[in-house]
Amino acid sequence: MREVMAKIAIVGAGQAGLHLGIGLLLSGHQVTMLSNRTGEQIAAGTVISSQSMYGMALGLERELGIDYWQDSAPQYAGAQMRVADSDGNVMLFWQGAMDEPGQSIDQRVKMPVWIDRFIELGGDFRLVDAGIAELEELAGSHDLTVIASGKGEIGQLFTRNPDRSPFTQPQRVLALTYVNRFRPRPGIPAICININPGIGEFVSFPGLTLSGACEIFTIEAVPGGPMDVWDDVKTPEEHLKVSEHLLRTFFPLEAERIDGHLELTDDKAVLRGRITPTTKYPVATLPSGAQVFGLADVVCLNDPLTGQGSNNASKGAKIYLDAINARGDAPFDEAWMNAVFEEYWDYARYPVAYTNQTLGQPPEHMLRILKTAESDAGLAHLMANSFNDPKSIAPWYYDAAAAHEFLDGRTPVAA
Ligand SMILES: Cc1cc2nc3c(=O)[nH]c(=O)nc-3n(C[C@H](O)[C@H](O)[C@H](O)COP(=O)(O)OP(=O)(O)OC[C@H]3O[C@@H](n4cnc5c(N)ncnc54)[C@H](O)[C@@H]3O)c2cc1C
Repeated sequence: MREVMAKIAIVGAGQAGLHLGIGLLLSGHQVTMLSNRTGEQIAAGTVISSQSMYGMALGLERELGIDYWQDSAPQYAGAQMRVADSDGNVMLFWQGAMDEPGQSIDQRVKMPVWIDRFIELGGDFRLVDAGIAELEELAGSHDLTVIASGKGEIGQLFTRNPDRSPFTQPQRVLALTYVNRFRPRPGIPAICININPGIGEFVSFPGLTLSGACEIFTIEAVPGGPMDVWDDVKTPEEHLKVSEHLLRTFFPLEAERIDGHLELTDDKAVLRGRITPTTKYPVATLPSGAQVFGLADVVCLNDPLTGQGSNNASKGAKIYLDAINARGDAPFDEAWMNAVFEEYWDYARYPVAYTNQTLGQPPEHMLRILKTAESDAGLAHLMANSFNDPKSIAPWYYDAAAAHEFLDGRTPVAA
């Protein structure tokens, strides 16, 4: 616990900003939060994410007493990966159990409740779409200003770090949908990653939305490929129709789960977009010379393919919270911000590599690992748990020599 109370400003009431803000209030700090949307507006808006979260990150929410949906939201304690072509010929399939269950709570459900909790704890919540002038004002009146604005435009203040950003273009065209009439997968509930090589992926899991339990899926189309057909889609109904068509055409084994026809959970249950995975330098300097500190997506943005962004946001918020608490009365200067971000990057480099390795042409050692997981239940278990902690499969998942050494030394565990 910090001995000296600090005045902290946070821009953005999302997964990271609210987690940090609530944690700081519970630690006795004074917190101002700027949000460009009220809780009511978030609840009434379109879906934002599929936000699959796993044990470690959910545990951090539990630590703060904000895991309000632990008992009411569906849980899934498994992971499945299938590589198959459009005729359903399976090239690879593994499934494994996770040690702790994952959950997905619609951010339209979660963030309004967290905003209420932030206010209840005495946080100063202001409805402002922050621009440079507001940041200058915050930086002048607070000890530290944290920017947690996700994909918001204000994030352009931060500069891309080319050494940590292998891509300059989006690697997928994303289409997110919350549905009913999509039966649970056979067997234990799981995050299902389905890959149709060269065409894209279909990722699904159970979730909790405004109307209750549902299935959430994201179709990830390789740009220019046969699933990149979204340009003329305008309405939620068209989005749903195209999604079902793509599912039936390119993922026939998963399409067997459709019960008649898919239905949207509500008329705002769709989202489309493209993300260029990017890591930035964590400190931005305002015209006055004041410096602000980036957190989560604003400085470390990933494609959602492996479901890491919300988890990273929660883990990053925890690192920043502990670092602020440990700072005593020393200033939150640039050197401190860079050091704290490096501590975060020491973890985040793994989910970044994990996601980017899955987006790109899979290296030979990765294919060998995934193929081995088909018949080695112990390895499938490690891979299932890697969604929770991509660092847990380092170095071997990320390095060819380490992978071969690891696999050559393994005694497979029968499925
Ligand atoms: C299709 C899709 C599927 C996804 N699926 C998953 C998944 O399964 N698992 C997972 O872990 N992650 C997933 N993610 C990623 C995850 O949603 C994000 O990484 C996470 O929400 C990032 O948290 P954040 O706090 O950085 O930003 P956000 O949660 O986006 O919050 C930022 C907030 O700042 C506000 N804001 C922006 N600009 C301003 C401004 N100028 N002034 C005031 N407020 C501002 C925004 O309105 C927003 O409320 C997915 C993302 C997408 C797009």
